[in-house]
Amino acid sequence: MASGDDSAAKRLRQLNTYFREYPVIGPVEGRTPTTTTAAPLSLATLDHINHSVTEVIKYTRKANPDAGPAPTRADAVYDWARQHTQHAPAAVQQRRDTIEYRQYLEHAIRVGDWRKAIRPQRCPECRTFGLMWQGDMQRALCTNTECVDADGFSTTVTLAQLAYQHVAARKKIRQARAT
Ligand SMILES: [Zn+2]
Repeated sequence: MASGDDSAAKRLRQLNTYFREYPVIGPVEGRTPTTTTAAPLSLATLDHINHSVTEVIKYTRKANPDAGPAPTRADAVYDWARQHTQHAPAAVQQRRDTIEYRQYLEHAIRVGDWRKAIRPQRCPECRTFGLMWQGDMQRALCTNTECVDADGFSTTVTLAQLAYQHVAARKKIRQARAT
């Protein structure tokens, strides 16, 4: 779940549509790649979709062996997971939400929308904004020049760390509201 109508489910739906609109035909030898050449990306996108859905199904089944058959529509998997783990211990539900949020970030990054996904996140180390996505490292880099380790290297964080931080903070807000 993310703010507004932006969510892991919506993002996965987009990826699915994207994949269908650019069927996989594989890289064409000798053809000059253009900015619209989407075929090789499609294959990776399909892989990404499958991997994401499988992760959610596996986690849900582990938490609830009676969860039954998973939905056939990829983007329905998050609702299905919530439904079948709603009575699970709080830690299990928090982990489920963290997986979903991390996947939301991953889906957004896959379509090049990292700014929308990463910019609202604070750096877990220095608590400031200004994280930048580094595709080659598969990590977000803190641009605060004072946020460095003992060797002077900038702080980098994984999407899993950002998702954990986001879900934990959201839980705190909910608890504060409830009391
Ligand atoms: Zn920082």
